[in-house]
Amino acid sequence: MPCSCRSADLLSNGSSRAPSTDEDSLDSSPDSGEKRKTLERKESYNYCECVLEREESVAGPPGFQTRKVRDEKMVFGIDKVLSGIVKYHQTVRGGMLEQFKRVRDNPVPSVLMFTCMDSRMIPSRFTQSDVGEMFIVRNAGVLIPHYKYYGKEATITTEPGALELACVINTVQDIIVCGHSDCKAMNLLQSLKAENTPEDTDFAHSPLRSWLMRYGGDSWVQFEKMLQSKKNRLVFMEGNHAYEAVIDAKNEFNMADKFSQVSTLHQLENITSYPFMQRLVDSGLVRLHAMWFDIYTGSIFYFNKPHKTFIEITEKNWDEFLNEKDREALKKQQIFGLRNLVI
Ligand SMILES: [Zn+2]
Repeated sequence: MPCSCRSADLLSNGSSRAPSTDEDSLDSSPDSGEKRKTLERKESYNYCECVLEREESVAGPPGFQTRKVRDEKMVFGIDKVLSGIVKYHQTVRGGMLEQFKRVRDNPVPSVLMFTCMDSRMIPSRFTQSDVGEMFIVRNAGVLIPHYKYYGKEATITTEPGALELACVINTVQDIIVCGHSDCKAMNLLQSLKAENTPEDTDFAHSPLRSWLMRYGGDSWVQFEKMLQSKKNRLVFMEGNHAYEAVIDAKNEFNMADKFSQVSTLHQLENITSYPFMQRLVDSGLVRLHAMWFDIYTGSIFYFNKPHKTFIEITEKNWDEFLNEKDREALKKQQIFGLRNLVI
């Protein structure tokens, strides 16, 4: 059974110490009573493969008689962050100073990525992007509220502001929406929908559920259409242009991941629901892309419109995703600075 705690990740990047052995613990126990307690604790370790998280018995009502405890020698939370900053000082900071100087007065980010706040997603690492290259907006489930919600009932959210900052104030030309497998937020939305939770449920106690139900509801509608379609076919709109998608054509992923892929594509529709974004996209000055990250294999997929499906990005195919029309639009933008005319 795979380990559910994060210790394996921490160990794999060398930032933490290995768990102590039985002998270590016994040696450090000052008296026999302490040794017995240590032994009892060790016996209650759960079956987490990396043995860095254990369950301890505590006094409490039924159902609350154990608690999870992490190994004392592990570095977590703010300790992990502070020690990471020291490591950054010692290793990459020097090299980054030159890059900071280069982009200080004239940063020209050319990509805006929307992705999930999931701790397993590290976009700057898996895209190998550098200082000044990419705006990144992260939220629970990768949702970009549709224009119909804009300005109503104090629901102005970060995402449309980010579109304006990136594409109007700056000259970002590519927007990527990147979903991922095993998305806890999407899984929660799916379970709320599967339980037929009413749209008008008051989630005052749960901002996360409110967020997902309000801004993810349209993704669910699309997903239900997919379930009723033949061969998982759907039609999405990008501004005034419709295109077809076949979700998980090889049937490799479970339903929750299919839903995540549908939602990822649906966010592109939401981006062009903003009039200023529709003009930029229609004029070819901004291009929209959907990607999807499989966190269990590390594979990254790109939605390819001619093939109507997500295709894994590899060394052999990565440069086929940019077509001639895109290249021409890009060239025009660089030469004539057409963006101000369009907006
Ligand atoms: Zn997620």
